[in-house]
Parts: sequence; structure tokens; C-alpha cells
Amino acid sequence: MIQTKAYAAQTKETDLAPWTFERREVGPHDVQFDILFCGVCHSDLHQIKDEWGGSIFPMVPGHEIVGRVVKVGDHVKKFKVGDLAGTGCLVDSCRVCDNCKDGLEQYCTNGHSQTYNGYEQDHQTPTYGGYSNTIVVHEDFVLRISDKLDLASVAPLLCAGITTYSPLRHWNIGKGHKIAVVGLGGLGHMGVKFGVAFGAEVTVLSTSGKKEEDAKKLGAHHFVVTSDPEQMKAVAGTFDFILDTVSAEHDLNVYLGLLKTNGTHVCVGVPTKPAEIAAFSIIGGRKSLAGSMIGGLPETQEMLDFCAEHNIVSDIELIDMKDIHTAYDRMLKGDVRYRFVIDMATL
Ligand code: NAP
Ligand code: ZN
Ligand code: ZN
Repeated sequence: MIQTKAYAAQTKETDLAPWTFERREVGPHDVQFDILFCGVCHSDLHQIKDEWGGSIFPMVPGHEIVGRVVKVGDHVKKFKVGDLAGTGCLVDSCRVCDNCKDGLEQYCTNGHSQTYNGYEQDHQTPTYGGYSNTIVVHEDFVLRISDKLDLASVAPLLCAGITTYSPLRHWNIGKGHKIAVVGLGGLGHMGVKFGVAFGAEVTVLSTSGKKEEDAKKLGAHHFVVTSDPEQMKAVAGTFDFILDTVSAEHDLNVYLGLLKTNGTHVCVGVPTKPAEIAAFSIIGGRKSLAGSMIGGLPETQEMLDFCAEHNIVSDIELIDMKDIHTAYDRMLKGDVRYRFVIDMATL
């Protein structure tokens, strides 16, 4: 077994603290890579606080993982020692259901294995994430990472990147579309970058005016402060598509009112409480309310390759492992510019 150093939460009430555990030995199809950087997703915070229910402890969060390969199994074809490698939110899936066969492992009907707060496909071995020094993953769930981009800034692409790339691609967003991104945090800022890269006209909907300058630097064409009724009235009925990345309770009816006829509002943020939707918010204008979860392995690789080709990375603030709780506190205040990434050398 491989002795592994980590930061873990022992219960939903306790802070993260140093912890050691064992990862499996490298099997014939496994890749072991040492973790150099791990992004901090708002989902880490939801899950260590058990806000969605069913959290498994001890929990080692982290699903935006990049590093360098140190060992490969005998049958591994995609990687060799010394290569860069990445893993996102998934480490395995059943591989036989229709969704897995279609490369939609995130929607595996038999239950995928999430990178942490989940179980391996034996449904009993807990998975532990990227706030740790090394990881062992089946090669099919390890992504190739370009050496052209800054590695720490690539880490957030593994969740924030694919979670925004996938719905924009699925709904064919591009030139001629007016889209809005709600919430300028980790996911939101990647949504802006992809929306702009795909040729859409992008508006950021944010709770305050504090991020306006940043939004324009990220490429957004317009900025709307959602607490200002005049600004909201001016954009009523104007968007083809809304990408909603908000992590906390908010009134979806308000945003549905900003869609054009036939417009679509896609939720990727996962607030704790269920939303209340008035039928009138969607029947007038034949509007769609939809959701999307991360992305499958083929699309995640496609997104990483697209980013390497178009020089797209996350805007990050590099932190030491010990500062994780300060980062969480700032994240809760919406003070993220625009993704915290842990330098795992500080573990
Ligand atoms: P984040 O960095 O904290 O960003 C969330 C942003 O939402 C904040 O920066 C803030 O933007 C806005 N916001 C916060 N509270 C709000 C409120 N009460 N009303 C309106 N806006 C508010 O979080 P993240 O890492 O991007 O994650 C966002 C959400 O997506 C989380 O719930 C996370 O669990 C979920 N998620 C889902 C998937 C998926 O597969 N669907 C994948 C990853 C994450 P402004 O300052 O601009 O208002
Ligand atoms: Zn995430
Ligand atoms: Zn499956």
C-alpha cells in the first residue's frame, strides 16, 4: 500500500487537519501521480459541511488535481513516468451502461466513483481526493495535460472548466447568442472565458459592482448588478441562454424573466435548498430550465486540448495548505479572484 499524506475532515463539525492514509498499490491499468496543485471548489465546502447530505468521513476533498506521473502499471499505454497528468471529479464508473459507453460517465446509471466522498466500483472502498500528496487512478480516468500552460492555473479546468464548457457545448452556444453568466466565482469566470471563446455576447450577472472591472478583463461584454432593479429591468427578455453558477439560495424566477422566448436557463450551481419555480415563469415564452453536471472523460480531454490550443487557463490565487480555511471563508463571502489553488508542496 502507498502511505499518503493529506488534509482531511474527520466529521462535518471539524476543520480540515493533517491525516495519513493508504492508497492501493499501482495495478496493471493504474497511473500513480504525485499531486503538485489542487484547486479549491465550492463543492469541497458543501461536502465537508455535509450540506448535500450523505457525506462520508474522514473526507479528503479536492477534485481539480494535476501533477506528474511517478509510476505506471504494466498495461498502461497513455502515460509514462515523468508525464503531466490530471484527474477531475471522477475516478471510475461502471463502463457498461449506455451513458458510460457514450462517454457520459458523469451520468453513469450504475453510479460513478467520484474522486472523493464516494466509493470505488466495489461500492465499499472510500475514495480520497486531491488535498493529498499522491493519487492512484485507472488510466482511463487520468487526463493528459499540456506543458504549454501554467500548471497551477490548469488545475481548476478539471472541474470549474469542464462544468461550464460542457453545457455551453451541449446547447451549441456560439456566435449570435446573447448569454448571461450568473455568479462570478470559480465556475462563473470559466463560463465567461468559454462563452467569449465560442463567440457569444456575454453578460455577467453579479450581486455587486465589485467585480465589474475584472469581468471586462475576462472578456465579458456587459455587466449587470443583480441588486439594482433598473439594471435588471434593462436586460429583461434579452438572453438566449443563462449559465447559473450560484452556490447559495436565489430566486430562479427572477432570472427566467431575463430569457427571450425559447431561452434556456441551465443550473450548474448546487444550493442546499430546493428552488421554487412558478409555472408562469416558464410557460410564457416556452422557456426551459435545465441542469448539467461536470462532463465525461472524452469531453474533459477535448476541453483541456481546447484550452491548450486557445491559451485558456483559470485566474488563480495560489495558497498554502494551512490557509485552506481562510480560503473557504473568503469563498463564502464571494471574495474569490477567481479560484484558490493549493500548492501541494506546502502540505
Ligand atoms: P464560488 O467560486 O464560490 O462562486 C459562486 C459565486 O456565486 C460567487 O462568487 C458569487 O458571485 C455568487 N453568489 C454567491 N452567493 C450568492 C447569492 N446568495 N446570490 C447570488 N449569487 C451568489 O463557487 P464555485 O466553485 O464556482 O461553485 C459554484 C456552485 O457550483 C457550487 O454550488 C458548486 O457546488 C457547484 N458545482 C457544480 C458542479 C456541477 O457539476 N454542476 C461542478 C462544480 C461545482 P458574485 O460575487 O458575482 O455575485
Ligand atoms: Zn468542483
Ligand atoms: Zn455506467
